[in-house]
Amino acid sequence: MAYDFDLFVIGAGSGGVRAARFAAGFGAKVAVAESRYHGGTCVNVGCVPKKLLVYGAHVADELEQAAGFGWTLEEGHFDWGTLIANKNREIERLNGIYRNLLVNSGVTLLQGHARITGANEVEVDGQRFSAEHILIATGGWPQVPDIPGKELAITSNEAFYLKELPRRVLVVGGGYIAVEFAGIFQGLGADTTLLYRGELFLRGFDGSVRTHLKEELEKRGMNLQFNADIQRIDKLEDGSLKAILKDGRELVADCVFYATGRRPMLDNLGLENTGVELDARGFIRVDEQYQTTAPSILAIGDVIGRVQLTPVALAEGMAVARRLFKPEQYRKVDYQNIPTAVFSQPPIGTVGLTEEQALAAGHKVQIFESRFRAMKLTLTDIQEKTLMKLVVDVETDKVLGCHMVGPDAGEIIQGLGIALKAGATKQLFDDTIGVHPTAAEEFVTMRTVTR
Ligand SMILES: Cc1cc2nc3c(=O)[nH]c(=O)nc-3n(C[C@H](O)[C@H](O)[C@H](O)COP(=O)(O)OP(=O)(O)OC[C@H]3O[C@@H](n4cnc5c(N)ncnc54)[C@H](O)[C@@H]3O)c2cc1C
Repeated sequence: MAYDFDLFVIGAGSGGVRAARFAAGFGAKVAVAESRYHGGTCVNVGCVPKKLLVYGAHVADELEQAAGFGWTLEEGHFDWGTLIANKNREIERLNGIYRNLLVNSGVTLLQGHARITGANEVEVDGQRFSAEHILIATGGWPQVPDIPGKELAITSNEAFYLKELPRRVLVVGGGYIAVEFAGIFQGLGADTTLLYRGELFLRGFDGSVRTHLKEELEKRGMNLQFNADIQRIDKLEDGSLKAILKDGRELVADCVFYATGRRPMLDNLGLENTGVELDARGFIRVDEQYQTTAPSILAIGDVIGRVQLTPVALAEGMAVARRLFKPEQYRKVDYQNIPTAVFSQPPIGTVGLTEEQALAAGHKVQIFESRFRAMKLTLTDIQEKTLMKLVVDVETDKVLGCHMVGPDAGEIIQGLGIALKAGATKQLFDDTIGVHPTAAEEFVTMRTVTR
């Protein structure tokens, strides 16, 4: 049977754009439908604008350090409106680039909401298209718990477009997005509280990293409230918001920001017209090759809830394009040793197993841990400490995990990701000559076993 398209991609985000471009490059006839913004979450309300705001917040650190290097600065003034306007301009530029990338690779771009109407059929704003394969790459959406007053809270989607920097911000959540935004607000001058219902934030990260970041954020004056949860939010007469906690305490802020998880974006997608099943957490169930339970329909990226990161969605998109249209180049996505960063202040970089994961997996481990004051700070009064940690398997000498909290952690960890992928041993780390004077050299000079 002749279809309108070989591949119909729903969602022009990280995964969808990558799959569409490569499939078209392999000679397939491809369409992409996008209802909101080209480039998806990452470009519009995720990684990119977030990192720009992090850079903005980081300027405060540079200004604080300047005096130690002999600079006398006039009293600085920060203007939120300028930062947001400049950020918006950059995002619009990137939207255009993503659009052009698709159009120039021969993909048919459809602007509108796509709804699957059959195993091989998609409807976009009343127009129906047939396709041999349908790829769902619709991403995720922030989720706010169902509490009274939840409509008064914002999520990351709105935070990027706030008209003003709130004077007092209450950030709710314990994941990386909560931690990053708390750092942005705090760095830009807002009185910031980070509230999380668990014992300690960043569950799943290495224990030393979590504790170290907690200590550093407290040094910076961030108000951390763990084992705390909001019962309701009320609006006060002066327009500020009162969060009433389950333990009866009350916190007043000008903005309550929820970063308590993201659900798969399945709204009005028409899954009821297909045999696509969801997993226990409500994400689309797929097999090793991103095939859903409906043979002609595939799914990748945040909507499958595996590893919700842009480079992972890109790798999955590439894998799908290759498997369908260039099988001789197909390679499975390797989910081991994915390096990742949290752009907190100071940032985290991490790759491989945490100490806790290594022990749980039955490894006998040696821990090498180092805490030091970065050279740049020695001419300042700032007492911030950098943490570096290696988790090493005693039997094989393989480095199982590298973890860091400190300036440039995200930049440093990328290279260590290659080392771990190559199966580097601690001996190999020791044999590597350091780059001097850098913080990164500490990763190849840690000799004393901490535990
Ligand atoms: C605040 C924040 C910060 C982040 N920071 C980072 C980071 O630093 N590093 C990192 O690696 N990852 C980060 N992420 C995660 C990253 O953005 C996602 O993992 C990535 O965007 C997932 O790509 P995707 O293709 O699955 O979906 P998305 O990029 O979300 O794209 C999905 C697209 O589908 C469209 N769509 C949905 N439904 C339909 C429909 N029915 N019809 C047509 N179009 C539809 C949407 O409008 C959207 O454009 C961050 C996320 C957030 C929210």
